[in-house]
Amino acid sequence: MTIERILEVIKNKHPEAETTMLELSFEVADKAHQGQKRLSGEDYIEHPLETAYKLAAMDIDMPTVIAGLLHDVPEETEVTIGEIEKDFGKEVAGLVAGITKLGTIKYRGLERYAENLRKMFVAMAEDVRVIFIKFADRIHNLKTLYALRPVKQQRIAKETLEIYAPIANRLGMTELQNEMEDLAFPFIYPEEYKWVVEVSKKKYEERKRDAEKVIKKLNQELAKNDFKPLKVFGRAKRYYSLYRKLLRKDMDVDKIYDLVAVRIIVENLDDCYRMLGLIHALAKPMTGRVKDYIAQPKPNGYRSLHTTVYFDNKIVEFQIRTKEMDEEAEWGIAAHWSFKEAGGKRVKIAVDPEKLKWIKTLLEQTKKDYQPEEYLDKIKMDFFKNRIFVFTPKGDVIDLPEGSIAIDFAYHIHSYIGDHAAAAKVNGKMATLTAELKSGDMVEITVDKKRAKPSEEWLTVVQTNLARDKIKQTLKSSDNFGKIFRIFNR
Ligand code: MN
Repeated sequence: MTIERILEVIKNKHPEAETTMLELSFEVADKAHQGQKRLSGEDYIEHPLETAYKLAAMDIDMPTVIAGLLHDVPEETEVTIGEIEKDFGKEVAGLVAGITKLGTIKYRGLERYAENLRKMFVAMAEDVRVIFIKFADRIHNLKTLYALRPVKQQRIAKETLEIYAPIANRLGMTELQNEMEDLAFPFIYPEEYKWVVEVSKKKYEERKRDAEKVIKKLNQELAKNDFKPLKVFGRAKRYYSLYRKLLRKDMDVDKIYDLVAVRIIVENLDDCYRMLGLIHALAKPMTGRVKDYIAQPKPNGYRSLHTTVYFDNKIVEFQIRTKEMDEEAEWGIAAHWSFKEAGGKRVKIAVDPEKLKWIKTLLEQTKKDYQPEEYLDKIKMDFFKNRIFVFTPKGDVIDLPEGSIAIDFAYHIHSYIGDHAAAAKVNGKMATLTAELKSGDMVEITVDKKRAKPSEEWLTVVQTNLARDKIKQTLKSSDNFGKIFRIFNR
């Protein structure tokens, strides 16, 4: 990697970009890392260059790219954060300091690991761009993972799958999530990786040909209707994502309809629905497979229309979205930090703070009675588990871990509703309070102020720590009689 290639990527998209500081940051980093080598044998500077290149390719703002080049300087060289601040200003120095504070999250001792993880969430809550740099840094480290000792390879690959990839997912950064997962996958599950590659090889080819035929036919139809989308192309599912889906589908590749999906990028929102209608007029949609993530975006912000249709005796999934939605689907929250041209000037688009609220919630939840072991369990439970999203009757989305039941849902709306939940309706049908919820369910909780109250039993069935904590609180405060009873029984 060279600084020239990074400049080229930036200038291609933003001919007007001011790059003097970036070039200076390269000189500083290059000089500071002089003589240092990576375990892979490369000059050390290769690593910060690759990190910065990734950030530039993601089209993130200039201070983040500069911080990417400087990210290992304070930790690995004589140059201090103070000197970086003097040369590059507070913003860049703040980002570099954020990365340096994180250090490496090490599995050495649970306590240390939990503490580092907590630090990462603190840094993210302060400036989420720190995690973008960490992702770019991690991707290059994964690419050179072969050079490390097996123990270290395992630690880094495991940490990637368990921590970094889920965070990327939560931020809607699927492109980076997929990339990290596919790089870590062969180190953690070498046998399974081989199997997935082998099994999918033939199928991929077959589905790719199918997709090409479908695209050809669709294009003819579109021409007849004088409707021209911006882009139509086939998109292959990534290996690790395929592997995880196979685990849920009896390891049967034939049950994976989006192995190769046809993605259609259109001009605007109206065209999304027009395109969906056109496809459905052409081919019969599969029941239950039409998904409107535009009207109801996923909790991580993902927007798109999905439909699976029978097209010429083949089953094909279509994903329809605008260019803006497509960028957000790949880059998530990072899409908002890119250079945006407005009236010839670059302006920074601020991210909706609502989208980052969960980071703060996560921090607050664990601030009280912080115990490393408990903390780890809590976030593994609430954060790294697969998420489902469930709707209130008003259409609000409640984001819960997989396996959650109606009681969890009730407590996530309000502790009062949880404490007095008497019955539940799921999709209009009566259900028990312990009914397991699925993504897309609409759940209504009936409240009985006088008679309904939480029981000890609930503690064993709820899936979220929020519900568990609140039930414990309520039981404690209403359990005076029980306490006296227990004292008498000692
Ligand atoms: Mn690094």
